[in-house]
Amino acid sequence: MNAGGTAVKRQPVSQLDDHGRVRDDVACWYCRYNLRTQAGDQPCPECGEPIADSLGRTPSGWARIVNRGIVQWTFGTVALVIAMLVTIRLGFVDLGAIVGGAIAPIALLLGTWMITWPQPDQSVRPLSGLPRVLRGLAILLLLLVEFTCAEQLARTVWGWAGNLILTLTLLHAAWCLSALLTLTILWWLTRLVRRVPRKRLTTTLTTLLVLIAVVDVFGIAVLSTVSADWVLGLGLFPAASSITGIARLIITWAPLIAKLGTIVVLVLVYRAIHAHGIRR
Ligand SMILES: [Zn+2]
Repeated sequence: MNAGGTAVKRQPVSQLDDHGRVRDDVACWYCRYNLRTQAGDQPCPECGEPIADSLGRTPSGWARIVNRGIVQWTFGTVALVIAMLVTIRLGFVDLGAIVGGAIAPIALLLGTWMITWPQPDQSVRPLSGLPRVLRGLAILLLLLVEFTCAEQLARTVWGWAGNLILTLTLLHAAWCLSALLTLTILWWLTRLVRRVPRKRLTTTLTTLLVLIAVVDVFGIAVLSTVSADWVLGLGLFPAASSITGIARLIITWAPLIAKLGTIVVLVLVYRAIHAHGIRR
């Protein structure tokens, strides 16, 4: 009976027995005290907060999927950092392309899928707009990163002469799309964490989010300025092959700093959800 099964799933499962007492091991949402056998309409005996709040948590299975998504995202972002480092600092373009092209975007795609997993008790509603957009962006980023890596390999390993405008366009597109997807995912997670009772955490996450956005926008602006200079041949910056100085530093390190900030946000959100779950 498929229809019946779905209907049962949509019903909120009562965590109280016939006498209104907590039936299973449920941790108090505020202090982690085990509320089993406590009356559901009473305050927590340990911290005094309403037990009803703890019963209103989203199913922990769903919160676990979201957290697994965060692990995937952290893994993908670390892979991107490694890819950038081995390419830029060590010059191993082929290794960078393999890590950055084969591992990172697939981990980010999987992670995006899990982070935007529909909440089971809200399954009556279809996936709302933003998760769908995020999944679309992750697929687009995968395709773009693959193309960028192929172009990089073609130029540096297979000896293709290359095309400056194509290279710069890919670089711009990959950076902009990656920043857009990252910031939207982090914003989405920050919204989820608002349902975890940690006020200072929300402030910290919002501050980090703004800093990451500033670093990305600044880096992209510098890249655009340098690119325009190369394409128009104004000669303000050294040629693409020999660029040095402050512009190179910014183009090289801005995305890395943004990625490291992203990893910090992901770890903080993971720890908060792991410890407190997500409120309905
Ligand atoms: Zn408590």
